[in-house]
Amino acid sequence: MNEMVQPDDVFNCDNGMAPTCAVEGATDTPVPIEGIRGRLTQDAPLAKYVWFKSGGHADWLFEPADVEDLKAFCERLDGNMPILTLGVGSNMIVRDGGVPGVVIKLGKEFSNVEITGPTTLKAGAAAPVSIVSRRAGKAGIDGLAFFTGIPGSVGGVTKMNGGCYGRETKDVLVDCDVVLPDGQFVKLSNADLQYSYRHSALPDGATVVEARFEGFPGDPETIRAEMDRISSERKESQPIGSMTGGSTFKNPPGHSSWKLVDAAGMRGFRHGGAQVSEKHANFLINTGNATSTEIEELGEMVREKVYAHSGLQLEWEIKRIGRP
Ligand SMILES: Cc1cc2nc3c(=O)[nH]c(=O)nc-3n(C[C@H](O)[C@H](O)[C@H](O)COP(=O)(O)OP(=O)(O)OC[C@H]3O[C@@H](n4cnc5c(N)ncnc54)[C@H](O)[C@@H]3O)c2cc1C
Repeated sequence: MNEMVQPDDVFNCDNGMAPTCAVEGATDTPVPIEGIRGRLTQDAPLAKYVWFKSGGHADWLFEPADVEDLKAFCERLDGNMPILTLGVGSNMIVRDGGVPGVVIKLGKEFSNVEITGPTTLKAGAAAPVSIVSRRAGKAGIDGLAFFTGIPGSVGGVTKMNGGCYGRETKDVLVDCDVVLPDGQFVKLSNADLQYSYRHSALPDGATVVEARFEGFPGDPETIRAEMDRISSERKESQPIGSMTGGSTFKNPPGHSSWKLVDAAGMRGFRHGGAQVSEKHANFLINTGNATSTEIEELGEMVREKVYAHSGLQLEWEIKRIGRP
């Protein structure tokens, strides 16, 4: 029989030891914890983990101690609960009603970056891709400088096929290790992920734990200059210091979303505490105390205006998760 946790029980097992607290009693959403070394929290606030700094709680938040722990945890869930893995929340709205099931958040145990060959490297899924790009550049591995412009994690870009300046994750990712919702550990190749624009075929509920990348030989100084150029261009053109979620809508084929939003007169438009960025019309920002509902409603208002003005339906790029 699996042990059960009660509301508000928090297991902080950073020392790598198994939880010693024997927990009894049923809960609305029982979670088996026997043998689990990570940190498991019920009713965990998620706003602090996402760039918009808004939204509700996860029914359960699990921060695994390592890959084995994650596998064991998922096996014990037995496929009975929805699982969603958070990166650094730079492309996500967590709805105000919170997220059902288990949200997985990978910590520093999953953020190692290692050069593995003259043009190859591997990185844990929690590593920021800006660090991956810097490490590659220093080692004379070219082709990953575009990652400097993306504030996401390795797991996030692997799922989203993150890209900019004409390059995408699919151009540099070799393969990745993934824990499936039933705890199976699999290696998925670039081809398995069937990449297209800001989309992959990563199965629902799967967690990327590590990815391997390949670039091409380059000069560290030249790569650094390219990364500096990308960083300063981004500072000029995007509301980097704001509570935002990156590009709100995918670019329709042959069009730029920001131009369509601008042409529809929505730049700077406010709804409650949410606003279309004055700096970049395809970014929404939380001006202070916006709810996720206000942010999402603003996005829908923008879609309506753009459709009325141009006849084009914008498609959300930002992932919206949870209950309204
Ligand atoms: C200022 C700013 C600029 C941006 N510029 C760009 C840009 O130029 N190009 C671009 O492509 N994006 C850009 N983004 C968006 C964002 O950085 C990317 O989409 C990035 O890939 C998201 O990574 P994340 O770690 O924040 O993922 P999250 O926002 O946390 O999650 C995004 C999706 O990835 C999934 N996910 C995250 N980690 C994992 C994992 N380990 N395993 C499985 N699934 C996972 C989540 O479940 C979710 O579906 C920008 C965002 C901001 C705020």
